[in-house]
Order: sequence, then structure tokens, then C-alpha cells
Amino acid sequence: MLQQTQVATVIDYYTRWMQKWPTLQDLASASLEEVNQLWSGLGYYSRGRRLQEGARKVVEELGGHVPRTAETLQQLLPGVGRYTAGAIASIAFDQVTGVVDGNVIRVLCRVRAIGADPTSSFVSHHLWDLAQQLVDPARPGDFNQAAMELGATVCTPQRPLCSHCPVQSLCRAHQRVSLQRKRY
Ligand code: SF4
Repeated sequence: MLQQTQVATVIDYYTRWMQKWPTLQDLASASLEEVNQLWSGLGYYSRGRRLQEGARKVVEELGGHVPRTAETLQQLLPGVGRYTAGAIASIAFDQVTGVVDGNVIRVLCRVRAIGADPTSSFVSHHLWDLAQQLVDPARPGDFNQAAMELGATVCTPQRPLCSHCPVQSLCRAHQRVSLQRKRY
């Protein structure tokens, strides 16, 4: 629900969804019409459809057990890509795996002063490697959520709040900008 959508918008939908279908079995037995009806107004309807398809797959083909690793989540569940798989595995199942979304890309590029195009496959590959190296093995889910939140609230696309940033001392982009300011 939160992909491309703000938390404030999602809360009501999430609450109603969980009240209607509190278990995977409940969701698996829902009709597509019911899913679309509840999702109405949230946009990107394929997300709701895929969520329900995933629940069906888990219930009907995987014995009711949700895959617990990023690899198997991505491999076995429809519509689950690399980012979603990593987020579920680290947040729900404590797998030590990094995640990269738009916010994390921005944070990593600034912290490591990467100026190359992050949409290129070479840079993207590097960023996923970096996220994997940096993720906290003791609290991978919290680390990933913190990295995403940092990008969403502090290291914003325009006017990042560097003076409030908890990783300012590690940030190469910030160091370079500060150095330039001192010079001129
Ligand atoms: S110091 Fe500034 S540029 Fe660097 S990560 Fe923090 S907010 Fe982003």
C-alpha cells in the first residue's frame, strides 16, 4: 500500500483491510471485486490484486507458510520484486539483507559522493552491494527502515537538512560542500 503512496493516505485503507481480512486465509478467499472495492481510491490497483494473488499462492501452494528469505519471496510470490522481498525479509523475518529504494539511493549516493547515474545497471548493482555491506546485522529491519526514513524526511531531494542529519559526519557530499564553502 505504501509504494508511491504517503502514510497518511494509507492508514485508513490499511485499517479497513486488516479488519476485513485479518489472516492470509481470509484474504485468499476474497473475490477480486471485494479487493478492488476496498482498494478504491488508493490507485495502482495491481498492488491489491497481487497482494491477494500472493495470499492465494501461500495458502494453496505453500502450505500457509510465507517464504522467509528475500530470495524465496522474490522467486515464489507474484509481484514481489527485489526491493519488496528485501524489505519483508529484513523487517518481518530479521534477514540480514539490505534494501535500495529511491530514498536509499539518494542517501547512499550522497554519503559516498557517487555522482554517476544511479539508474545505470552498474551503479544500481554497486548500490545494492553497498546496502548489503552497511546493513546492521543485529537489527536489519530497523536499519533499512531508518535509511528509507532518513531519505524521506532529512536527506530530501531539495534542501536536505544536513545540520539535523545523524550521518553527517560520515557524509562525503556534505564534507565536500563544506570544504567548498570554506574556500570561497
Ligand atoms: S549530511 Fe546532508 S547530504 Fe549527507 S546524508 Fe545527511 S542530509 Fe543527506
